[in-house]
Amino acid sequence: MSRLEAVIFDVDGTLVDSERDGHRVAFNAAFEEAGLSDRWDVATYGRLLKITGGAKRLASWFESTGRSPIESTELAERLHKRKTQIMRRLIEDGQVHARPGAHQLIHQIEASGVQVHVATTGTRAWVEPLLERAFGNRFHTVVTGTEVPDLKPSPAAYLEVLRRTGCPPEDAVAVEDSANGVRAAVAADLRCLAAHNPYTCDDDLSGAELVAKGLDDPALVAWFHRRLRSRCRPNE
Ligand SMILES: [Mg+2]
Repeated sequence: MSRLEAVIFDVDGTLVDSERDGHRVAFNAAFEEAGLSDRWDVATYGRLLKITGGAKRLASWFESTGRSPIESTELAERLHKRKTQIMRRLIEDGQVHARPGAHQLIHQIEASGVQVHVATTGTRAWVEPLLERAFGNRFHTVVTGTEVPDLKPSPAAYLEVLRRTGCPPEDAVAVEDSANGVRAAVAADLRCLAAHNPYTCDDDLSGAELVAKGLDDPALVAWFHRRLRSRCRPNE
């Protein structure tokens, strides 16, 4: 068994319940401000999450509701900028929370001397204040979509974390919530643990070594307990 040296977390849907109560709310506020009648309810947003990237999601939605491709792209770019500002405000207001078990798990990992990193394709403008607000910026390396624009399932964000830290992939594990995230981690030669949420519970997470119901799932907690304990007892 290789020695666990690093845990790399996804952000959206993995560390925080950001999709339903953060991004979706911010998109709807941006629609309203722009005088548009478009609204995304919880189920609609769940379907749209199959499209990675907020601007792409918006453009696809506008085209599907009868706007021309040019109008859709223009509207999507404008609204995505505004949505990011609104998302920042929601974060600063403390509206986006850590998922149950996230703090305990990170504490357990840190206490064992294992580094904790982040690989997300979210924008740094909201990722950074979110990590600061929800976790007090305790991550060694944070790679966002601002530095690595290739969205998951591209492995680019994970490869950049590995490059910056010098950690071989066999000594690290990724924690993800979605099919695209698991595919990104596996494509970077990482083992992956999946902690799905209500939006991703029907995703194909079969590339993951373990599929858990959340970060507080006893199976996930036990996996880390075993691996972190074995660092202290190399003969186990
Ligand atoms: Mg995610």
